[in-house]
Amino acid sequence: MRKIACAAVLLLSWTSTVLADEVLPLEIKGPLTQGALILAKTELGVSATLNGEELQVTEQGYIVFGFPRKAPLENTLVIKKGEQTITRELILKPREYKIDRVDGVPQKTVTPDPEQVKRAKKEAGKVWLARQKETTRTDFLTPVTKPAEGRISGVYGSQRIFNGEPRNPHYGEDIAGPTGTPVHAPWSGDVVLAEPDLFYSGGTIIIEHGYKVTTTYLHLSELHVEVGDKVEQGDSIGAIGATGRATGPHLDWRVNWGNERLDPALLPQLYQD
Ligand SMILES: [Zn+2]
Repeated sequence: MRKIACAAVLLLSWTSTVLADEVLPLEIKGPLTQGALILAKTELGVSATLNGEELQVTEQGYIVFGFPRKAPLENTLVIKKGEQTITRELILKPREYKIDRVDGVPQKTVTPDPEQVKRAKKEAGKVWLARQKETTRTDFLTPVTKPAEGRISGVYGSQRIFNGEPRNPHYGEDIAGPTGTPVHAPWSGDVVLAEPDLFYSGGTIIIEHGYKVTTTYLHLSELHVEVGDKVEQGDSIGAIGATGRATGPHLDWRVNWGNERLDPALLPQLYQD
């Protein structure tokens, strides 16, 4: 009896020593640069902030967040659990974006008439609303696959000049391929938007992957999914086309963290050692 009591006391003192010295685990995955989606692995039950804004933590202790195209270079990630706090300065590598002159775009999509502006605004509202849906899926923990085969014909971040007129930067990665080339889901997810004919983006699909991460597919000639469908990684969701403001058949695919538009070309780096 005495022996057992002794062991319990020893165990308790050992546990408390460890607690005092314990450090929260924190591993950052992904390239620390503008436009990147970042994954942090810590532990269950922590709370986290990025530059003072609260971040959500998955049940497995992962945190996903992103840095937009012009993100400030100095960022502070704070992880807390009880009395323990870790502060990590995340210093981003600045990016240079190229200037992209695109000529021969249908002029009506460069300077749309008031009716078309009205239509495009309404559609933008629908797209915004679709991206507000948020689940606790964690598809982004699985290494991303390519949504389509083809030549990369456009990159993220470039400043677009359409028919000589400066417009918004390009936020996707363009993959050129013949109309009808299949488009596959690069991660599993929930379809939150499937529109065959939006003014700028033509056939458009948005898939939600959890914790504010969504991917978008533009200019599609065919849609193989509907809102509410659950897709598995690799499923055919549609086909490459030239619908909307496009000069030729290509897939423009994008990744968002909430309303922040990020660079899909950086995603594979999340899964490198
Ligand atoms: Zn594009």
